[in-house]
Amino acid sequence: MIHPGTGQPVTPDMLDPLFGRELIKQEFSTERWIEIPEEVRQILAQWRCTPLYRARQLEKALDTPAKIFYKYEGVSPSGSHKTNSAIPQVYYNKLQGIKYIATETGAGQWGSALAMACNHFGIESRVYMVKVSYNQKPYRRALMEIFGATVFPSPSDTTNAGRAVLEKDPECTGSLGMAISEAVEATVTHPNTRYCLGSVMNHVCLHQTVIGLECITQMELADAYPDIVIGCCGGGSNFAGIAFPFIGRMLQGKEKIRAIGVEPAACPSLTKGKYAYDFGDTAHMTPLIKMCTLGSTFVPPGFHAGGLRYHGMSAMVSHCMNQGLMEAVSFPQLETFAAGVQFARAEGIVPAPESTHAIAGAIKEALKCKEEGTSKTILFNLSGHGHFDMQAYIDYNAGKLKNYAYPENEIAMALAGLPNVKG
Ligand SMILES: *Cc1c(COP(=O)(O)O)cnc(C)c1O
Repeated sequence: MIHPGTGQPVTPDMLDPLFGRELIKQEFSTERWIEIPEEVRQILAQWRCTPLYRARQLEKALDTPAKIFYKYEGVSPSGSHKTNSAIPQVYYNKLQGIKYIATETGAGQWGSALAMACNHFGIESRVYMVKVSYNQKPYRRALMEIFGATVFPSPSDTTNAGRAVLEKDPECTGSLGMAISEAVEATVTHPNTRYCLGSVMNHVCLHQTVIGLECITQMELADAYPDIVIGCCGGGSNFAGIAFPFIGRMLQGKEKIRAIGVEPAACPSLTKGKYAYDFGDTAHMTPLIKMCTLGSTFVPPGFHAGGLRYHGMSAMVSHCMNQGLMEAVSFPQLETFAAGVQFARAEGIVPAPESTHAIAGAIKEALKCKEEGTSKTILFNLSGHGHFDMQAYIDYNAGKLKNYAYPENEIAMALAGLPNVKG
């Protein structure tokens, strides 16, 4: 990370007003292993290990020789993988005596996970929820409020960052980049408050690797090993969670795999972004991060996979992309919803709109196996269930969803405004 004012690397002490201290240590850590604290393990044990399933019905429906496995993170109390990081993040802040936590949420998955964790540890939470999701997903908001969170539609009039956006565009539907600006501002302007982020950062990716580590053991029990590992990519944390342990083994000279990140065609940071230093937020309050970015001022169109509406990507996932350790593909939303419905009909689980991207990626690879007559083993992460996303499915079933064209002009404009940093 680079300080935008000085152009010098960010040091851990600079992040102290923002993040819990242990989390900053993890962010900069070069340790190979970091133990999950006992207290965190006990909470995670309520739903972990999460199940690894063989998608036999989907294989049959596709008539593919491929073996398809999926790891189901939707069994966590908040319905997605986000809880894996919310629990340790709040735990470390609690140890430090923090009383309030501010955060952003896109589709509401991270907000619910964080609100649940804050409730557990007796910390007050303020959640800035991207406005389009705030309106599309009232049940997610209700869930956060059950856990005691205060939820603001972002952009809101409670921060300078939010008011500045509303002044220019009162109808603005918001973005993750904007909600991050608001949460960061709420953190630094309130005492005894820290900020928590649901994706992108190294420490979040680290917490999520529990997914892939469990997969390695579970695949061993099934006497299998994946040739292909797939995850959807918003900020990159669930993809990192399932893929990094496998990529790690590959870097150690063990089994080779293909890791594939799947993103929305309307917000394609890995497939169409630039690998450059950029701000993590819209109001330019964060350090500069080297990542695959569409430009921090880019506001993605309001498609239904709210958790994937982020202009950037985890620095480590971007690094893997740059090093050729992974591939990326993108799909328009009609194709991902079709994959989600096909999966639900075969396997009986309704996936989150974000997760349907991973499913679309897995189906594409399985059909390729059929064409080539090869039997590969495909593993994908089913990052969450879609029980709070029924309006999206209602709209899809009614034929009301449309594909958004790749927002070429807006992205070109946002990329033209990238900060001028070498590296
Ligand atoms: C938030 C979310 C995502 C996207 O975030 P990543 O950090 O890229 O994992 C994907 N799936 C679900 C269900 C989510 O809630």
